[in-house]
Amino acid sequence: MELIDTHAHLTDGKFDSDLDSVLQRAAAAGVTRVIVCGYDVESSEKAVRLSGEHGGIFASVGTHPHDASSYDLTVESRYEELAATAYAMLRGRLPRSRTFVPSLRQRVSGACAHEVSTPTMLRGRLSRSVRQQVFGACAHEVSTPTVVAIGEIGLDYHYDFSPRPAQRAAFEAQLALAQRLQMPVIIHSREAMEDTLSILRPFAGLLVGGVFHCFSGDAKEAAEVLDLGMHIGVDGPITFKSNTRLAEVVRMCPGERLLVETDCPYMAPHPYRGKRNEPAYLTRIVEEIAKIRGISLVEVAESTTAAACALFRLPR
Ligand SMILES: [Zn+2]
Ligand SMILES: [Zn+2]
Repeated sequence: MELIDTHAHLTDGKFDSDLDSVLQRAAAAGVTRVIVCGYDVESSEKAVRLSGEHGGIFASVGTHPHDASSYDLTVESRYEELAATAYAMLRGRLPRSRTFVPSLRQRVSGACAHEVSTPTMLRGRLSRSVRQQVFGACAHEVSTPTVVAIGEIGLDYHYDFSPRPAQRAAFEAQLALAQRLQMPVIIHSREAMEDTLSILRPFAGLLVGGVFHCFSGDAKEAAEVLDLGMHIGVDGPITFKSNTRLAEVVRMCPGERLLVETDCPYMAPHPYRGKRNEPAYLTRIVEEIAKIRGISLVEVAESTTAAACALFRLPR
């Protein structure tokens, strides 16, 4: 059984001291790959760095609605640079491994040490000539992008940490960025479904896809999200007894559009509620989905993993 945690914040300081054991527990639970989501420039850079250091980690880059006030053209070009550079550096270099592998740095110093030795390349500050060298000399190494999405982006009218007009502007600009880069989007929408859908609608046919992560809407809203070609991400709250609304969404969502995610360190599922969440707990969410849909754990694992691979263009 292989699972992909499609939304995790392993960049959070809460993982700084024990990330290796967190990843070992994840792998032992079958969670062999994790998409680490950025929410501002700093976390996006860290997500890309982590993806370079651990083969099972992929990154997304973007500005969360909470930080929308800080979004400008400089931020946008940094995301573009991160996506392009990580792609150039790592295209194919990540092995098609199903488990966490030795750091990229180790692999690079092994295979291409004569070309690339500065740790700065892992932070995306790769000069044109080094990039060419990487492309030229290490092409045999390279095929999978590590920046797999733009996100998390969207609207959060629950907290309103950034003024709503700024949230809407940053969301729209980043949808345009995703369209330009032809990358899927990871959307955060809280108490803002109507505005989220109306901003997204004109982009729907132009994007390569996306996910409404940590979905909290009802079945009617889920149907609209699915109509726009989007996926639905299910998190810890599905394990809470009272959540019949989300259970209905899980029941009606086609398997190929359903993704599983932890949103760790937040959103810990039952019985870990209130504790630090981590990718290994993804199995709790999968168990609950299997129960609700009346299928086996393995079937849920297979369909959600296939859906994640298709959306984020990860190797099967
Ligand atoms: Zn979110
Ligand atoms: Zn998140």
